[in-house]
Amino acid sequence: MAKNDRTEEKLAEYRAKRDVSRSGEPEAGAGQDGDTPCFVIQKHDAGNLHYDFRLEVDGVLKSWAVPKGPSTDPRDKRLAIATEDHPLDYAGFEGVIPEGEYGAGTVLIWDHGAYENITWKEDGLRPMAEAFETGHALVWLHGEKLCGGYALQRIDDDEGQWLLVKMDDDAADARRNPVSTEPLSVTSGRDLDDIAEEEQDS
Ligand code: MN
Repeated sequence: MAKNDRTEEKLAEYRAKRDVSRSGEPEAGAGQDGDTPCFVIQKHDAGNLHYDFRLEVDGVLKSWAVPKGPSTDPRDKRLAIATEDHPLDYAGFEGVIPEGEYGAGTVLIWDHGAYENITWKEDGLRPMAEAFETGHALVWLHGEKLCGGYALQRIDDDEGQWLLVKMDDDAADARRNPVSTEPLSVTSGRDLDDIAEEEQDS
């Protein structure tokens, strides 16, 4: 199967859940494969506030909804619920999904950057797709707010439940709490209210 066909297949659920002509979200196209894979964390106020953690893997953004958001304290185990793969273009999406659409609410690009796969096995790196199948993946983030290692550990396959945990490295900081102290968008400098108001005015 060609790579683009596989991407299309992975994005079938994304497409089925929304009408992008109404929601204003990116189309489920193939997007651009970069040299280094990217990650994005989107703060999403959809009635229930959560953070969507997305990692570029094989042409799509693997995605998890993290209700409490990521922590910089290695002692925190943050629940991360696996959600449908998103198109690569979604990493640049910030705005308001209109009332009545899937995920209606405001989306803010809370952090982004490149990441590295650091999931080692005996004889080298385990490819990301394989790591997610086994239920254990380690990534090294190069974000503006989040840096260093993070572990994703699956705890319940049926429910799609994972834990997102900061690894104990130089970027670990039990006192920082960036989710509350650094709320603004890394691309526009806006907060959720700014984004919502601006879109209503336009
Ligand atoms: Mn979301």
